[in-house]
Amino acid sequence: MNDRTALVTGANKGIGKRIARLLAAEGFVVYVGSRDAERGRRAVEEIGDGARPLVLDVTDPDSVAAAAGHVDGLSSCLDVLVNNAGIAPSSAPPTETGADELRRTYETNVFGVVTVTNAFLPALRRSPSPRIVNVSSGTGSLAWSTGPNPQFAHGSGGAAAYRSSKAALNALTVLYANTLAGEGFKVNALAPGLRSTELNSRAAASDGDPAEAARGAVRLALLPEDGPTGEFFSWDGTPVPW
Ligand code: NAP
Repeated sequence: MNDRTALVTGANKGIGKRIARLLAAEGFVVYVGSRDAERGRRAVEEIGDGARPLVLDVTDPDSVAAAAGHVDGLSSCLDVLVNNAGIAPSSAPPTETGADELRRTYETNVFGVVTVTNAFLPALRRSPSPRIVNVSSGTGSLAWSTGPNPQFAHGSGGAAAYRSSKAALNALTVLYANTLAGEGFKVNALAPGLRSTELNSRAAASDGDPAEAARGAVRLALLPEDGPTGEFFSWDGTPVPW
């Protein structure tokens, strides 16, 4: 029997762990990506049936290549890739953000996604219905940052490194979707909403349940053949403008 397989990056805690748990409950073999082996082991133990540890630092090409090789050795294909790992180290506006801060943020939130996606493309291409979910952010929506009633203007242009990294991720989502549409891929971006995790102080102080966001990611991971691709959705399934 061929088990359906999924990989969630940054799945040792937060939204990613909830996504891994839900996919395991759906019957997937889920590779729980974690850059720290011990943190990954603990998450796998917590999730239980279906969860498998996978050491994977999205900023380290050697780590990503080793992880792809490991999955190749264990599974015939990869059906679902959830690019969830992300960082939000600074809330500064662009006027107070150095190029180093931008690079550091983009290493994980943008370049890491490209490294992981390209490394796992051969395994995804062997799936009959490959799905990629990029965990983005509503704060990366340029439409929501501008316009007559900007939801994320914050009057300040804050978190410039993080928000622009998610805008870049959104652009890549569209380009991957366009490139892979003829091969049956569905590639979409998710805005999880503000969730109570360790990501940043604003998120940690919110009462948003990360499991609610995870359900939105799983919906995109399980899209049918006639489902959308190259689109941006909120956790509740409503479209988000780019
Ligand atoms: P979190 O609890 O801080 O989890 C982030 C995860 O990413 C952790 O597992 C972390 O691993 C992992 N990670 C960071 N750098 C990594 C790297 N180089 N390689 C591999 N894994 C790495 O944050 P979260 O809120 O669940 O965030 C998950 C995603 O949701 C992110 O993409 C974030 O931008 C997005 N998001 C979150 C919110 C929110 O309100 N929470 C809102 C919008 C979007 P370690 O434990 O090793 O650090």
